Amino acid sequence: RRVLLTGANGFIGAHILSQLLDRDVCVRAVVRSEAKAAALRADFASHAPQLDLAIVPDMTADGAYTGALRSTDAPFDTFIHTASPFLYKGGLALKAVKAHAGSVERVIITSSFAAVAPLADQAAMTGKVYTEADWNPITWEQAVQDESNRNAAYQGRARTWKFLETEKPNFDIVTFAPPMVYGPLQHTVKKISDLNQSNDRIYRLFIDSSKNAELPVNGIYLYTDPRDLAAAHVSAVFTPAASNQRFLICAGKVSSQRISDILRAHVPELAERAPIGTPGKDSLPENPYGASSRRAEEVLGVTYRSAEETFVQLARQLLEIEERE
Ligand code: NDP
Repeated sequence: RRVLLTGANGFIGAHILSQLLDRDVCVRAVVRSEAKAAALRADFASHAPQLDLAIVPDMTADGAYTGALRSTDAPFDTFIHTASPFLYKGGLALKAVKAHAGSVERVIITSSFAAVAPLADQAAMTGKVYTEADWNPITWEQAVQDESNRNAAYQGRARTWKFLETEKPNFDIVTFAPPMVYGPLQHTVKKISDLNQSNDRIYRLFIDSSKNAELPVNGIYLYTDPRDLAAAHVSAVFTPAASNQRFLICAGKVSSQRISDILRAHVPELAERAPIGTPGKDSLPENPYGASSRRAEEVLGVTYRSAEETFVQLARQLLEIEERE
């Protein structure tokens, strides 16, 4: 197998890269600068023969991926697109794959639960169990008013699946819709200020806080661990039955109280720092929404680790980064 991976130095991308290399896959990792390429080479030095790097400074520029996609000696069979903003500017990546990498048989895209549910209107989500049949009902006109929703909603239908119908490429498409992704980092992060958004939220609210602070609001309380999400991407590389499917990847619900309870029980350094709240009291709203990840379990064999494993390992790692700063 020969995979081209965008966003390879990101939080999720680095986990996918690591698991692909562990499965002896050859990967071309796409990053935005030489400094980021050097950092990735250092992190994955033990896999040097399987890894080459390409630099695409601006993925929204016309022809951005043309050079990165050329690989005559060992043509790509899979393109994994984790870089955000996703398919900004008209499915550029899909067009580039079609035009310049005819050998690609599958394009795998890291989308988001934001393409599934109307996250800005949580009241409308009450009690619903989301599946792959659901789409955020936001219209393009509404989406352009709201930058944070734009990519998720727009790419969902207009850009990804319609491409298959209208362009009839040689590849099929697999997309993943994770909710919040929390968990340990696979790539080197030297400073807390370099954390990705979701883990930064855990740091700010549960570590850089105080035991007497008010319990943080739940926000989007569905979550998944990046290692399980990465395993789903890697499984999709090897699973023909994943063809043209969309997958929800969700470990379950986690309230702020539960995160605090886990951290306070297992990470003694946080005794004075993680908000106490009301230990053991479920702080989820009545009739919470959920997501079924049955399709991913059945087709891709996805399993989920425990919330304890996710949050304790993440917190220990964040404390180490803090200590080193
Ligand atoms: P990170 O910020 O850690 O990684 C994002 C990656 O995308 C980095 O490699 C970054 O490069 C690259 N990137 C960002 N903007 C551009 C751009 N304009 N052109 C080219 N590359 C770019 O985020 P995550 O790993 O958390 O996210 C990966 C994907 O997963 C995203 O599409 C995100 O929306 C989606 N997702 C994430 C969730 C989460 O909770 N983390 C939840 C649901 C979906 P650089 O390092 O140079 O900035």
